[in-house]
Amino acid sequence: MKPFAFSRADSLETAVEYRQAEPNSAFVAGGTTLLDLTKLDVMRPSRVIDINALPLEGIERLGDDRLRIGALVTNAELARHPAVREDYPLLARAILAGASTQVRNMATTAGNIMQRTRCPYFRDVAAACNKRQPGSGCDAIGGINRMHAVLGGSEACVAVHPSDMCVALAAIGTTLTLHGPQGEREIDFADFHRLPGTTPHLEHMLGDDELIVAITLDPPLRPLGTAYLKLRDRASYEFALASAGAMLSLDDGMIGEARLALGGVATRPWRCHEAEALLVGRRAEEAAFTQAADAALAEAQPLSHNAFKVVLARQAIVRALRDAREGHP
Ligand SMILES: Cc1cc2nc3c(=O)[nH]c(=O)nc-3n(C[C@H](O)[C@H](O)[C@H](O)COP(=O)(O)OP(=O)(O)OC[C@H]3O[C@@H](n4cnc5c(N)ncnc54)[C@H](O)[C@@H]3O)c2cc1C
Repeated sequence: MKPFAFSRADSLETAVEYRQAEPNSAFVAGGTTLLDLTKLDVMRPSRVIDINALPLEGIERLGDDRLRIGALVTNAELARHPAVREDYPLLARAILAGASTQVRNMATTAGNIMQRTRCPYFRDVAAACNKRQPGSGCDAIGGINRMHAVLGGSEACVAVHPSDMCVALAAIGTTLTLHGPQGEREIDFADFHRLPGTTPHLEHMLGDDELIVAITLDPPLRPLGTAYLKLRDRASYEFALASAGAMLSLDDGMIGEARLALGGVATRPWRCHEAEALLVGRRAEEAAFTQAADAALAEAQPLSHNAFKVVLARQAIVRALRDAREGHP
């Protein structure tokens, strides 16, 4: 591990100033991603900037029925907050399907969004990885790629975005508030994570001197049936092979609004707009669900070891939609 300097930011302005003074620095919130990767030599910041003293906590209902969540709210706090459990059960379920109680107690909202891939080649400094070392190649593409992406990949990178929470944020609709030298700006969550293309080391739209200060959830769908299904190699403390988050609002068995997003199969949190469009106005039954699943996976490009993920994701979608229908009030 490379030694690093350590600073505590006591204001947003100081946090930004530290970043500007040392471009090879990194913010630390819960530290559950950053410290792992620093110990593995995958991330090598020269300075770590602790942002835990910043006033980025709190969950607040806004006048327009949206919910604003501070960047430092922990995953555990968020999942158990009454407004989240009541109005955004998909978010609570997705968070609780991830990691462990201990990790969720430390992990923060912004840290979860910014977490890095679990691709074993990214995490092994002896392997070629365009994300870690631009231009070095991708050992996953011709290697053991069972865990990798079937959607959104490129010839440079097929690493999966690992977050469960982000699947829910994609389905719900979320705005990120970023703070930088010019003050605050907002960006739609759908535009935040980048596809790898030829530059997989560029993962998101956050500027070098910006930090995430809050996220705001779109107003809740009501009435709502919701389900998060996570399929994985073991039942707990494991990342998804395929996951599906579904939200349905129903009127007399007919689908009024549908939201569907996938995890574990794509290079970024994956919203399935075509599948949603196929569901709206249809009776909430098996035929509509299987057609939606086929549409969601129509562009899938399996690798040598992960064709099974297409089947798994298809089944996850159908089951999540079925569970969302059954859970509808
Ligand atoms: C054993 C283990 C199992 C896990 N299992 C799962 C799982 O099943 N599902 C899942 O979704 N996740 C899982 N995780 C990942 C976990 O959710 C993330 O590590 C966590 O959410 C990161 O949050 P953090 O606050 O600890 O981030 P940190 O480690 O502090 O930071 C992570 C990154 O975010 C940046 N960052 C932090 N805050 C900000 C900010 N406000 N603005 C800009 N950049 C910021 C940091 O610079 C760093 O690059 C697991 C982690 C571990 C260690």
